[in-house]
Amino acid sequence: MLSLASMLQAAVRRVGLPMAIFVIGLAASVYGYFAGVRHSEAQQIAQLDEAAENYAFLLRNRLDLYVGADRALGAFFSASGSIEADEFENYIGVTRVFERLEGASSFGYLPRVPASQAAQFETEAGHVFPGYRILDKRPGADAYYPLFYGAHGTDPMRAARLRGIDFSSIPERWTAMRDAARLDEPVATGAHPAIRHAAKRPVVLVFSPVRKMAARGLTPGLAPISAGGRGELAGFIFSALYIDRLFMGFDNGRLARLFDIEVFDNSLDAAHLLFDADGTSHALEGDAAHLLVHRAEIAFANRTWMVHFYARKAALASKAAQAGATVLAFGLLLSLIASYGLAAWPRRLSRKRAMRDFSQRFAGFFEHHPFAVYAIDLEQRFIHVNQQMARELGVGRDALIGTPADAFVAEQDRGVLARHFKEVLAGKTVAYTSTIVGAGGRCSDVSTVLVPMSAGDEVTHVLGFAENITDRKQAEQALHASRQMLQLIIDNIPQSVFWKNGDSVFQGGNRSLLVEMGLEHVDQLVGKKDEDFAPWKDMAAHYRQVDLEVMRSGQARMRMQATDLRKDGSECWIETSKIPLRDEEGRAVGVLAVTEDITARKYMEQELFRRANHDVLTGLPNRGYFQHHLGEAVKRAQRGTGLAVMYFDIDRFKHINDTHGHDTGDEVIRLFAQRVRQVLRDGDFIARLGGDEFVLVAEGLQQPGDSAVIARKIVEAMAPLFHAGGVALRVSTSIGVAAFEAGMTPDSLVRAADQAMYEAKRAGRDCFRLAGQAPQTAS
Ligand code: GH3
Ligand code: MG
Repeated sequence: MLSLASMLQAAVRRVGLPMAIFVIGLAASVYGYFAGVRHSEAQQIAQLDEAAENYAFLLRNRLDLYVGADRALGAFFSASGSIEADEFENYIGVTRVFERLEGASSFGYLPRVPASQAAQFETEAGHVFPGYRILDKRPGADAYYPLFYGAHGTDPMRAARLRGIDFSSIPERWTAMRDAARLDEPVATGAHPAIRHAAKRPVVLVFSPVRKMAARGLTPGLAPISAGGRGELAGFIFSALYIDRLFMGFDNGRLARLFDIEVFDNSLDAAHLLFDADGTSHALEGDAAHLLVHRAEIAFANRTWMVHFYARKAALASKAAQAGATVLAFGLLLSLIASYGLAAWPRRLSRKRAMRDFSQRFAGFFEHHPFAVYAIDLEQRFIHVNQQMARELGVGRDALIGTPADAFVAEQDRGVLARHFKEVLAGKTVAYTSTIVGAGGRCSDVSTVLVPMSAGDEVTHVLGFAENITDRKQAEQALHASRQMLQLIIDNIPQSVFWKNGDSVFQGGNRSLLVEMGLEHVDQLVGKKDEDFAPWKDMAAHYRQVDLEVMRSGQARMRMQATDLRKDGSECWIETSKIPLRDEEGRAVGVLAVTEDITARKYMEQELFRRANHDVLTGLPNRGYFQHHLGEAVKRAQRGTGLAVMYFDIDRFKHINDTHGHDTGDEVIRLFAQRVRQVLRDGDFIARLGGDEFVLVAEGLQQPGDSAVIARKIVEAMAPLFHAGGVALRVSTSIGVAAFEAGMTPDSLVRAADQAMYEAKRAGRDCFRLAGQAPQTAS
């Protein structure tokens, strides 16, 4: 004979669920009506059998909901990493589990606390729950599972009173916890007394393992929330059910009152009697007065509950009419509900159920999640979306429900989505990025994780988390572009650029540097130090010193100039600037260096200096240079070094010019300068002031007579004939010598020398005169 359940399934296959419910409900009503009218005991039994079937059906669903709620809370904990106390309470509040799950007395979270970390855990937990202690520790355990967060349906203080108790110290619970961890599934305990409960009210607990996900956030490594989680065990979610309320508490007890219900947990003996409505077990004792009308086996969180439905024979007859009416009413109610469902909700009932179930489980968590969160059915149609999802797509939530999700996926990504969706249906969690197209064609890049949600073994719908990564992607692109630009710039400037870490180890360099060093690739530079490169080996210690100084002072050292050798061995001038590199806290952690071969510039500078400061005809310093030099020499003389200035010019030079021409005159000036230069020391400074006038600055004179010795040497140097312009000429000079004395300025010194020269001219030329002294002759 077909059971009601298999008839239901067959009907669903043939005509669809809403119609099937309507037809079956109607049939049941008619059936109930006739049964009630005829008052036959056999029919009553059949009715009761059917009612019992309904009861078992509802019980099964109810138990599925418990397991589902545990699973959802477990998934919430797994997916969310660390949960705050108020988040837990919010979850319990917004999901209204206590209202929805009649008989559930409490929910809670038992973190896994390794025994070695118990003290540390107590301290940390104490910040949330002052005075927190792990109580009733399981002796010899390597880890405890103390109550951390808990919520109680009717006695809010009870969770606080039990907080800290190691649930694994209770053998029934520890067995179920181990099974749950091993199977990675919710597992229920047998019936046992509630902890610290005066009346020792029997309870059953369902433990659901919580696994640590790979990381908070949506990464491809995210372990599935459903069975088969691979993360490390982080603890358990549990729910406690009051057995009496569980069996009597739904349907206002109406169905339960039709029978005497006895429930055995796993095996049919007194030790496993879970619930007995009238306190006398007819199943174990055998009882002629009671009739077994129905037996159902219900799988619940890794246990099998055997439910026996007994009817009192005597009452059968008298209650027949009443029972018939009850069944009639129940049947009519069912068909009415189904009819209403048909009229009001044209979508498939299965989808509606999944949606309702889903929204029950995830209401709060789902709604306020910062990511776009949505649920889709097996045909990829939206059955629920949160605010963020509606915002992301720019479409109202009502309009989204029932719409195929891939309508919002960019055409090129649809194939990828279809492939991923198949994997999700096979129970896998997948992560991918794609482009979605919202209202008005607005495109966004999203990173999505799809998680299969299942009831029992079957995936019923898919949960999606999508994070909008458009801005992040754009920022990455902009960063990439600016990096490229920077690279382009530094690779195309003529200067060599490199950067080093705090230990002066190269971290990078530009193309100019590589070319200059003869390196093919930057990898040949990175990780090395100055001493690893032959041309820098000798200077490595010095460079390190400079790096340290720049990092220590935090001050850049700009435009340091030094000579260096090129690869080809030629000498060159290098200018280097070193700038400290800083970390986020502003600490100098390396140096950035810019170096440039400034040989050409250096040469130009020297040339310009030479041109500006030297006389073209003789190559000697000019008047400007002389004045500068004299100023410095006077400063030195004030510190005690002997100084003399000698003014001299060629005697009767005009005559040479006039007689032999200007070119010969020039030649004579050049030869005159050479002769003077030859008799002087390297340190002596001789300048041509213009025309045939010269000046000598002699420093470091020890004796008062030293200057006279020099002057005489110059006068005597002119004795040999000059050969210029093809003629031999006699040339002489007259010199005025002024020795520095305290209080003299460059001007007064020059004036004194000039005056002395004038004296020498007056004395007949070809001689020298000391300023302020009697006339002398050269010989
Ligand atoms: P004295 O012995 O008194 O110095 O007589 P002097 O003829 O040398 O007279 P003075 O020093 O005053 O004249 C210098 C002459 O040098 C005047 C000028 O014509 C000539 N002169 C000036 N600059 C140059 C030059 O660059 N080349 C040549 N060839 N002659 C110059
Ligand atoms: Mg002259």
